[in-house]
Amino acid sequence: MPQSNLMMNRPMLISGILEHGASQFGDQEIVSRETHGPLHRYSYADAANRARQLANALHQMGLRIGSAVGSIAWNNYRHLESYYAVSGSGMVMHTCNPRLHPQQLIYVINHADDEVVLFDATFAPLVKGIAAHCPKVRAWVCLADAANTPAIDGVANVLNYEDLIAPHSHTFDWPELDEQSGAALCYTSGTTGNPKGVLYSHRAIVMNATAACLPDVLGLSTQETILPVVPMFHINAWCIPYAALVAGTKLVLPGPKLDGPSLFELMDTEQVTISAGVPTIWMGLIQHVEQNNLRFAHMKRTCVGGSAMPMALIAKFMDNYGVEVRHGWGMTETTAVATMSNLSRADRQRPAAEQHAIVAKQGKAVSGIEIKVVDENGHDLPRDGSSQGELMVRGQWIVERYFKADKSALVDGWFPTGDIATIDAQGTMQIRDRTKDVIKTGGEWISSIDLENAAVGHPAVAMAAVIGVKHPKWDERPLLFIVRKPGQSVEKEEILAFLATKVAKWWVPDDVVFLESLPVGGTGKVQKNDLRKEYGGVFS
Ligand code: ADP
Repeated sequence: MPQSNLMMNRPMLISGILEHGASQFGDQEIVSRETHGPLHRYSYADAANRARQLANALHQMGLRIGSAVGSIAWNNYRHLESYYAVSGSGMVMHTCNPRLHPQQLIYVINHADDEVVLFDATFAPLVKGIAAHCPKVRAWVCLADAANTPAIDGVANVLNYEDLIAPHSHTFDWPELDEQSGAALCYTSGTTGNPKGVLYSHRAIVMNATAACLPDVLGLSTQETILPVVPMFHINAWCIPYAALVAGTKLVLPGPKLDGPSLFELMDTEQVTISAGVPTIWMGLIQHVEQNNLRFAHMKRTCVGGSAMPMALIAKFMDNYGVEVRHGWGMTETTAVATMSNLSRADRQRPAAEQHAIVAKQGKAVSGIEIKVVDENGHDLPRDGSSQGELMVRGQWIVERYFKADKSALVDGWFPTGDIATIDAQGTMQIRDRTKDVIKTGGEWISSIDLENAAVGHPAVAMAAVIGVKHPKWDERPLLFIVRKPGQSVEKEEILAFLATKVAKWWVPDDVVFLESLPVGGTGKVQKNDLRKEYGGVFS
């Protein structure tokens, strides 16, 4: 009989990542855009010292293992320190999406039992509006020094971060926690009903952060510099704030400045080699680069997810600028990235258009994650690249039940994602739509993602969105929304004729609405519900 349990059983803890980063790569840089403008620059060792100071400060305020600390903040160095100080000391880091409706923000802060809320000065008006409705919050801490902390009328308990941590020691004894204990909490966007919380364990985050470093996932190392545009207020910025310290990667945090010119400047001056964000961010960036005839001097790859990356945009990055695109999929319930597209050695020999099509898929499950697709009766569908059904996921960093829920969210041990996908024989997954966005017409399905992708392929189109509109005969028919590129004058007939060459005839939308902009939510996704509310009537 072989013996078992002969290896150490050390818990996977977020404090372990911080101490690894500080002790092994202590002088690695973290560069961060301050909310009031200037760049701030310091080392991993400095960040760790200040995280320990904050842990002491929170402890002195009476917070203990299990207490929750909210944040309403950009990607910046004080938010990063909080990620480690709060979770490392056994508390729960509850990142709030500032673009939730204020009522929902109040709901999540109360539901999470936040005792302290950290916020950026940008969000002072928001704090003013919600503070009176959050009775459990003892202090609102502005992530700034005294000079940059605004007074908030009617809110008494506003502190500033620098004065809060200044008196405290650089040392802190991180507790030896159970690795399954809650470390961070993030709520879904709650497009229907109240947002639902996902409480990530230390184990889930450490495993995801470690896997994220793999060469074919984000590919982090001491040689790289990563700029996460994905917000730290939603899905842990894909765990990049943790993964960077696992790998010893220089970290560049963009603060509130997420427009094309600001991002480009930061990428250029800080020699960023890898970035991560949603497609709308890359559209803004590429427009700026094209209009000003710029080149990316250092960028090796951009990792994109959150919504489908249009093929036309993939082609631009790869062919015109030599920047590799990796396309990932994940959701609040999956801690961060669960699948990632990548080109194999053989794929890299294929014609460019075929490579773009491969990257347009959401890719392979990261080690630690399993995926499958099922039909409406829950039966497994073949991995043939064409059978489409609901995507199911299970693995080391997938939710089992929502925060404070009394029943599991799983079906036969798998999490039902609400996404419709195909998986091919090599395990490559492609999202075809969300169950709530797919257009059901005459008993068939039209993928809104495919239609949007095709529309964005027209040279005059900057952004596109498709919704299903009620139809007396066909149940639903597609309605297309277009935002033209500046100075372009394309009309409906030309767009529809163009689409007829790209998709089946019955997929061609019944109408086109031209808008100045699309409603975009807090995580950079087009808010189709807003479009449905306004335009979802009945086609005659
Ligand atoms: P919400 O959008 O409701 O806030 P999440 O932020 O958790 O929820 O987003 C998860 C959803 O985003 C997925 O279920 C999927 O529909 C969509 N998504 C994420 N990545 C991609 C991608 N690469 N391509 C298409 N859709 C994606």
